[in-house]
Amino acid sequence: MAKRIYNFNPGPAILPLSVLKKAEGAIVDFMDLGMSILEISHRSKEFDGIIKDAEAGVREVANIPDNYHVLFLQGGASTQFYTVPMNLSPAGGRPAYINTGAWSKKAIKEAKNLFSGTQVLIDTESDGIFTSVPMADEVLVPADAPYLHITSNNTIFGTQWGEFPDTGDVPLVADMSSDIFSKRLDISKFGLIYAGAQKNLGPSGVTLVIIRDDLLDRCPDSVPTMAKYKTQADKKSLFNTPPVFSIFILKLVIDWLKENGGLGKMEEVNMRKGELLYGLMDEMPGFYRGTAEKSSRSLMNVTMRLPSEELEQKFIAEAASRGFHGLKGHRSVGGIRVSMYNALPLEGIENLVSFMSEFAGRNA
Ligand code: PMP
Repeated sequence: MAKRIYNFNPGPAILPLSVLKKAEGAIVDFMDLGMSILEISHRSKEFDGIIKDAEAGVREVANIPDNYHVLFLQGGASTQFYTVPMNLSPAGGRPAYINTGAWSKKAIKEAKNLFSGTQVLIDTESDGIFTSVPMADEVLVPADAPYLHITSNNTIFGTQWGEFPDTGDVPLVADMSSDIFSKRLDISKFGLIYAGAQKNLGPSGVTLVIIRDDLLDRCPDSVPTMAKYKTQADKKSLFNTPPVFSIFILKLVIDWLKENGGLGKMEEVNMRKGELLYGLMDEMPGFYRGTAEKSSRSLMNVTMRLPSEELEQKFIAEAASRGFHGLKGHRSVGGIRVSMYNALPLEGIENLVSFMSEFAGRNA
């Protein structure tokens, strides 16, 4: 049995052990080919099977309508920060954004660089930090905006959209890097969804893009070939050499999702994890002070402060000695961050919560 810690890293993050075991075999000899998965051609029939299964699996778990394309791209979510405006905004367009955290800010910066008229409709920053996301009905999108961009889960600040805004005819674009497939999802509300794989979908190296068919034709000809969604949509993500191994693992993670009850079950377990962890924090608000407003709390990344930085350091060190790793908050905000993605078992949170309760008892 492999040694396993409880991995609370924010991303790259925990993967199901069963997936790693399958990958282990495939690294040495894939499908009795006498070659590793790392050595096969992206034009081979074996890889053709993998990428088709990956797409079919993604379509099945998220119930993706036929008028959407599923793309497996490279460059991380950060590349989408400029690919989205390049493809979806006409010259002189005024793309609309909502600023709810560090990753939203980066997306806005890239859009502004390309389109000076980029508009930030709502900005929840205060004194350099973010503690909330807007309520869906607070969002009023100008009808002439080419799209509205949101970050569905703010990995660093521990906030998450509950309901998504209704944007009418304006396509809603969401960076779902840190909460994709963590709950049920109505794809038809969105024009485009993107997510770096390294939290809920697999290893780094592949970015999932789900894009509505009609949006592919918006892209000006002048956009470089590799930056056009249409290029990869026409070639089924095989215009150039794709990240074969990352797509293979993503396919295994999607298989695991299906075997484990799909998005409905993920949602149920993730809600239970949230009840346990936030429940404890609400019992001891003087010791574990949540940094997100209650109505905006994330079920993927739970952020908190302890009474002092010394206690935070002690907490992180003691937790690690008990097998709980990756609990340090992002370097820009400090504190504690518990990332609890789909692959983290419920038992991980149950055990962490008992440790936290005991730690508070000893140190309050
Ligand atoms: N968006 C969000 C919400 C993220 O959490 C991250 C990475 N943690 C990114 C974008 C950037 O992703 P990448 O490193 O794949 O560019």
